[in-house]
Amino acid sequence: MTAAILEERKNSIGFKAGGGNSDGPGVSCGKNSLSGAVSQRACVFCGARVVLNPITDAFHLVHGPVGCASYTWDIRGSLSSGSELYRNSYSTDLSERDVIFGGLPKLREAIAEIHLKHRPSLMFVYSTCIAGVIGDDVDSACAEAERKFGMRVVNVKAPGFAGHKAMGYALACEAMMKVISEAPPARAVPGTVNVLGDYNLAGEAWIIENYFREMGIRVLATFTGDSSHEKLLRSTGASLNVVQCAGSMTRLARRMEETFGIPFVKASFFGIGDTGSSLAKTADLLGDKRAREKAREIREREGGRAEKEIARYLPKLRGKKAAIFVGGGFKAISLMRQFKDLGMETVLVGTQTGTADEYEVIAGLASPGTVILDDANPSELEKFMREKGADILVGGVKERPLAYKLGVAFCDHNHERKIPLAGFEGALNFTKELNDSINSPVWKTLRGARDFGAAAS
Ligand code: SF4
Repeated sequence: MTAAILEERKNSIGFKAGGGNSDGPGVSCGKNSLSGAVSQRACVFCGARVVLNPITDAFHLVHGPVGCASYTWDIRGSLSSGSELYRNSYSTDLSERDVIFGGLPKLREAIAEIHLKHRPSLMFVYSTCIAGVIGDDVDSACAEAERKFGMRVVNVKAPGFAGHKAMGYALACEAMMKVISEAPPARAVPGTVNVLGDYNLAGEAWIIENYFREMGIRVLATFTGDSSHEKLLRSTGASLNVVQCAGSMTRLARRMEETFGIPFVKASFFGIGDTGSSLAKTADLLGDKRAREKAREIREREGGRAEKEIARYLPKLRGKKAAIFVGGGFKAISLMRQFKDLGMETVLVGTQTGTADEYEVIAGLASPGTVILDDANPSELEKFMREKGADILVGGVKERPLAYKLGVAFCDHNHERKIPLAGFEGALNFTKELNDSINSPVWKTLRGARDFGAAAS
């Protein structure tokens, strides 16, 4: 490794054995970000808010300075088939005076105002850094509001300094458990599932729901894309939880298994192979032979149609090098498989919240010399993308400017996107996106202009 890597970060970066500087694939993960390393990872509050925000009829009140609220306001491309209330963001806008005298009066006032104007049935109150530091008793304010206004008010204690994004996921899961634990006792309804960890970005949850509908399987609730307070309460009657974003939702799946006896299965609807096998696996676990047969039919019909179209792009993508930096390990694994199917090589793969198990799978899929890194910072991404000659970076909003500044193509696979990338049609959209970005003439022009500038100076 060169001097560009901070000493304390070296254990979080590995190289698949068999090529170059081989430290072995094992990377240290799940730790707090290194101070001064400018992590790409988001804070605890952000982790909690992005998971809970797509509940369409819930109110989200951020108890902290207004900056926290704007940071996470409507950053997901989650779509709703009903209420649009989740598109609003409320903040107590704590200022210096509140830090000195306490922020509870403002919080009580804000809850009362929202109740008066909107009469919500469910509200999440997020206590962010400042509320944590000054020690406001937010629990008692929420309990008092519940008694007074007859609505559910859940305190999500999420000061950013308490850990990192994955802790926010855990807090969101606990908050949802508090909500669904109030559901009346329900018996498991045969042929029903909940989909956990799908945020209905660009309507992806609807794509998956349509496949299940054709298979005769009913989705009771999606956590949390296009969900509502009522749908969440219904979820306790499902026969199976299908967990799509394992990083954010495995905890909820485990808690629902312990509390309501609902088993769960990890699934991925990214890529033709993973989508097909996830549908089949769900049918098998429900013990439904007819659904299994339907899953095969859908794979053949929809998957076949997408494969035919994708084949046209293969000559333009074959041999290109991909860098991946996404939120969770499960998505990174699906992306690596998709790149393999497209004849592309993954030269760098990293995540914000991947687990040791997921990094093991990633190392198994990687080719010799592939860089594997946890909780990267921009400097590391830049160094390895340059060294490995990546043609495209797949990441989220924080990675986009980095790619563009390096003159590298970019594909948004995070929560802001407007194009569905899940399911069979999503696999085709993904391929088109890759092709449009990698083979855009802008990169040649940009590099040409740079070379000219360098020669002139
Ligand atoms: S780190 Fe703290 S202050 Fe910053 S956005 Fe997160 S909760 Fe708010």
